[in-house]
Amino acid sequence: MRIAIVGAGAMGSLFGGRLAQVATVTLLDPWAEHVAAIQRDGLSIIELDGQESRVHVTATGDPSAVPEADLVIIFVKAHATRQASEWARQFLAADGLALTLQNGVGNAEVMAEVLGAERVVAGVTAHGATLLGPGRVRHAGQGPTHIATRPDIDTKLAAVAAILEQAGFEVHLSTDLDSLVWGKLVINVGINALTAILRVPNGRLVESPAAGELMAQAVAEAVAVCQVKGISLPYDDPLGRVRQVAQATAGNRSSMLQDVLRGFPTEISVINGAIVREGERLGVPTPVNRFIVAVIRAIEETYAVRV
Ligand code: NAD
Repeated sequence: MRIAIVGAGAMGSLFGGRLAQVATVTLLDPWAEHVAAIQRDGLSIIELDGQESRVHVTATGDPSAVPEADLVIIFVKAHATRQASEWARQFLAADGLALTLQNGVGNAEVMAEVLGAERVVAGVTAHGATLLGPGRVRHAGQGPTHIATRPDIDTKLAAVAAILEQAGFEVHLSTDLDSLVWGKLVINVGINALTAILRVPNGRLVESPAAGELMAQAVAEAVAVCQVKGISLPYDDPLGRVRQVAQATAGNRSSMLQDVLRGFPTEISVINGAIVREGERLGVPTPVNRFIVAVIRAIEETYAVRV
């Protein structure tokens, strides 16, 4: 299978590096230093047990250099999804699939506008990764990857799942896309922005009663939105699940915290922002998420890296 990874940051490098051992993989990323390091020395992945492996994989910053791909995995941050999809349009095979495992809601819709809904598939992953520098990534957490299937792509997606399994990912196919995407969203709503505002690793949110209260309110609003939308979440006790994830990933810095520390734009608009937008549309009050979005936007504007 010919695979292109668009956005070879933390997650794209982890997935691309592993997949390169069982398929023909091209990494595409505009970060020139990272691409040069991978071309020169290969990609280093530090596994959960601390073992470091080096993988030789093709990397480029030029979309026109990417060969035709049967599978494109989009792993950019949400604000770059449209640009990444436009690049993918240049090399995704007519009968290929473009997969997003990004956080937040709305990425698959943007991809569908550019690539056609029939070629787009979405899922969620419990894996975590952190970029250490050009050409180096740390695998920060593992868990299942769930991908939403549908009758028109069942056979193709089974082949994608098989190759991901060969690369060491535990994959489950599901027919309930909303449950997957909103189930992950509720967890991100409870953790990411609060860690970015408080500048703490995930575990601190469950140690502080005041932070825990904010988490509880943000999650309750998200759950109320899901209820009105008729989404059945993939767990019974949403707040309990969010707390459990924060505890299980206690030492991790969420990607939103990493973004604010680097002065980069965050994914707030597709995470807490999605709750605010849907709440507004459906008449569900979301004052806590609205305030959280405003604080993150102020942080983004105040600390933005000027280039
Ligand atoms: P990252 O910031 O480490 O990597 C994003 C990469 O995209 C960067 O290397 C950047 O140079 C590149 N990029 C920017 N614009 C591009 C474009 N137009 N085309 C191609 N590449 C482009 O981000 P990440 O942490 O790997 O996260 C990627 C997605 O996965 C996000 O939606 C995130 O929420 C999600 N996610 C992350 C984790 C995690 O642990 N890091 C876990 C689950 C899901």
